[in-house]
Amino acid sequence: MRTPIVAGNWKMFKTVAQAKELVAAAKDGLLAVAGVDSVFCPPFMAVPAVAAAVAGTALGVGAQNMYWADEGAYTGEVSGLMVKEFCQYVIIGHSERREYFCETDEDVNKKILAALGHGLMPIVCVGESLNVRQAGDTEAWVAAQVKGALAGLTAVQVKGLVFAYERIWAIGTGLAATPQDAEHVCGNVVRATIASLYGAAVAQAVRIQYGGSIKPANALELMSQPNVDGGLVGGASLKAADFVAIVAATAKAKGLS
Ligand code: PEP
Repeated sequence: MRTPIVAGNWKMFKTVAQAKELVAAAKDGLLAVAGVDSVFCPPFMAVPAVAAAVAGTALGVGAQNMYWADEGAYTGEVSGLMVKEFCQYVIIGHSERREYFCETDEDVNKKILAALGHGLMPIVCVGESLNVRQAGDTEAWVAAQVKGALAGLTAVQVKGLVFAYERIWAIGTGLAATPQDAEHVCGNVVRATIASLYGAAVAQAVRIQYGGSIKPANALELMSQPNVDGGLVGGASLKAADFVAIVAATAKAKGLS
């Protein structure tokens, strides 16, 4: 069985002091849930403080982005070499990065390769816009994003990835996908595309999260889907009780509690 993984993407929220408070409020509740990988993804400034707060526990820390070069004249960027000092995970290709910072599938692929080279576990985001959905192109769009992300990766590298399927209009809007729709895209598109490239055994090893307006109230049903191996949680991860409840619902959905 794949170990479920729930990551909280804090986006550009929380100062260092607020980050410490949030981790302190969520830590014990998360550690009481067995069998789920729980990950905090704070803004860069708060990453060292969060890493210090969870040191020695099973809780993970992720960055929300990284650059593919290790160092150089890239003002404002942070490299995998720097991220790995504090983090085990890194979110790559979030739709907000793709939309507001013009990240392409090629950029995403370079970042994944660089992250893997540093022993980081990438959480690779894919997902369609409402326009793409309404045009009936969801499957082709998401499959192309998955293929673009995987260019040049070996089967061993692919097994070390987490994918997050996040339809863009579900993010931060309250309009979560139905569990059936999340299952369809996670299983019949993301996992099936990986299987077509690397075979069923590799595809079965990859963890695929659903993301988009996950809340305590809808988490159990979403996480109960067989091809949904956890969640990428935005807004609800900013409230300790909600994040803990989503992790607990994930454990329950997978028969771990
Ligand atoms: C996200 O930021 O990846 C996300 C899914 O946000 P939200 O849970 O707020 O929809």
